[in-house]
Amino acid sequence: MSVTRLQRLPVHNDHWLPDLLLSMTRSAFDLRLPTLGLLCPLLLAACATSAGPSTAAVAPVEVPSVQHPQQETPQWWYRSGAARAAANGAMAGKAKNVILFLGDGMSLTTVAAARILDGQRKGGPGEENLLSWEQFPATAFSKTYNTDSQTPDSAGTMTAIATGVKTHMGAIGVSAGTREGCADSLGKGLLSWLTLADSAGMATGVVTTTRITHATPAATYAHTPERNWENDADLPDSARAAGCRDIAQQLLAAQRFGRGPQVVMGGGRGEMMPAGERDPEYDDKVGLRLDGRDLIAEWKQAHPQGAYVWNESQLQAAAGAPALLGLFEPDHMQYDHDRDRGPQGEPSLTEMTRTAIRTLSRDPNGFVLMVEGGRIDHANHAGNAFRALDETVSLSDAVRAAVETAPADTLIIVTADHSHTLNFVGYPVRGNPILGKVRGLGGEDGDRSQYARDLTGLPYTTLSYANGPGYAGASNAQPAGPKKFNHEPSSFEPSAGRPDLSHVDTEDASYMQESLVPLKSETHGGEDVGIWATGPGSAALRGTLEENVIYHVIVQATPKLRQRLCAQGTCNADGVPVTLPQPERFERKAAQ
Ligand SMILES: [Zn+2]
Repeated sequence: MSVTRLQRLPVHNDHWLPDLLLSMTRSAFDLRLPTLGLLCPLLLAACATSAGPSTAAVAPVEVPSVQHPQQETPQWWYRSGAARAAANGAMAGKAKNVILFLGDGMSLTTVAAARILDGQRKGGPGEENLLSWEQFPATAFSKTYNTDSQTPDSAGTMTAIATGVKTHMGAIGVSAGTREGCADSLGKGLLSWLTLADSAGMATGVVTTTRITHATPAATYAHTPERNWENDADLPDSARAAGCRDIAQQLLAAQRFGRGPQVVMGGGRGEMMPAGERDPEYDDKVGLRLDGRDLIAEWKQAHPQGAYVWNESQLQAAAGAPALLGLFEPDHMQYDHDRDRGPQGEPSLTEMTRTAIRTLSRDPNGFVLMVEGGRIDHANHAGNAFRALDETVSLSDAVRAAVETAPADTLIIVTADHSHTLNFVGYPVRGNPILGKVRGLGGEDGDRSQYARDLTGLPYTTLSYANGPGYAGASNAQPAGPKKFNHEPSSFEPSAGRPDLSHVDTEDASYMQESLVPLKSETHGGEDVGIWATGPGSAALRGTLEENVIYHVIVQATPKLRQRLCAQGTCNADGVPVTLPQPERFERKAAQ
C-alpha cells in the first residue's frame, strides 16, 4: 500500500483558477485591498456563475425549470447534468484516461463499517483507518433516486452514471418508459461514456464480480427496458417480436461503435453459452441460450489475437493478450471470502483491475474502464454484513492497485449506485469488533467492560439491518433465533422477541445480523451515497449532486470524449456537451 502515491497524484493540475484566485486573494489581503470587488472585473467568467467559485471559463448553461416529475425529459436530465458539471468546473479537466469504480450497494454505513473492519484486520482499533478512496481529495454526495422510484435499483442508477440521464427502475441504457415496454424503448437508446470512448478510438474495459450481463456492467454497453433480459431465454416472445434483444448478445453488438470493449471480465458464462454445451468448470451445468448462439466463440472470432479465459491460471497465461474475455463462473463470481484462490480458481478483483489497466494502457489513445465490486450489494441483500464489508475491503484493495498502476493523467472515481439498510448503532467502546456485540454503554452510564443490554436484558450487535432475512422469527428454512448465511426464506412466523446472542459468535462469516422487518431479501436504501475522486477533473466532484452528473463530469473532463460529442454537434458555443446524443450517430457506419 502506498499512501504517498495516493497523496502524490497530480490532482491539482486543473486548479489553476482557484489557485490563482487564492494567490490573488492572498496578495490583495497583504495589500489591504478589498478582495472580491477587485477580482471580479479581472475574472468575469469566474464570478459570473451562481454556483460559487468556478474552475473553468464557460458561461452558465441555462436549464429550463420543469414540473417534477412530469416534465423531466431525457433532454432535461442531460442538460441539467451538463450544467452542474460545467458550473463545478469539469470543463477544465484534461484527463487522458478514466476509471470508474462502482461499489454496488455500498452505502456510507457500509463504507464506515468496512473501514473499521479493514483497520481491525491490520491490528488497530479500526476507527482511525481509511479505505483507499477515502484518501482522495475530492468528495461529493450522490442523490440516487430513479425517475419513478424514491429508492432506486442498480439498473436505473447505473444508466444515470453511464449516460447522464436518469431513467426508470430496471432500465438499462434507455430513457424512462416502462420495464415491459419494448417497442416504446427502441427509440430511447442512450449513449454511455464507455461506448462513446470506443467510438472515439479509445480502449475500453468492463470488469465486475457479477455476471457480465448484470445491471451495472450491462448499462455500459446495452439498451433494454428490462434488466432481467440477460439471455435470449429471458425475453418474452412479445419483446423479441417487437425488436428487443437480450443483454448478452448486445455485448458482441457493441462492436458497431468501434472495437467493442477490449477487456471484459466477470461471471456469467451461462448467459453466453448455448443450452446444449456443458460448462468447462462444472459438469452439472450447461449454457442458458436457446437461440443456439455461442457468444464466446463469436467473441473469439472477432478478436483473433485475443484470449478467452475462465480460471486464474489461464488469466495469468494471457497476460500479454491485446484483448481479453474472462468469464470465471457460469453465474456471479464467488464472494472473495469464498473463492478458490488456487490456479483453477478465480482471480481477485484486484488482479482483474491490474490486468485490465495493464492491457488498456497500452493504447496510445487512452482508455476508459468500469470496475464493479458487485457483490457488496448481494451480501447486504442476504443480510450478511461480514461479506458486505469483506467485499468492500476487496474493492478498496482494487482501487489502491489502480492508484498505484494507472498513468498519472487518469481520472479515478469511486462511487456507489445506491444505499442499503445496514445500521451502525449503539455506543460500542473504541476498538470494539465491528461485527461484534456492543461492549460499552447501554445508553447512559454503565460498565464499559460488559456487553450493553437492551431493556429485556439481551446483548445486541453494533450492526443490524432494517429489513431482510435476518429476522428472528422461525422461517420455512431455519428455526427461530439468529439466522445463518445463506438463508433465503419464503415465509416467517412472527418472532416471540429478540434472539439471545450471549453465546453466539456474531463475528463468524456465516452470522446474519438481525433485521426488524422480515423479508426474503433485504432492500436498498434511499439516502445519498458517496463519490470520491482523484486525478484531472476530479475537483468538479463536490457538493450534493444528482447521480447523472457523474457522467457529465467524466465527458467534460476528458478532452477526447467531449471532442467526440462536439463533433456530432451536441455542444454549445463553449464546447459543453449539452444536447442528448443519439447513439446511432456514433456508430462506425455513421462516420463513413
Ligand atoms: Zn441490489
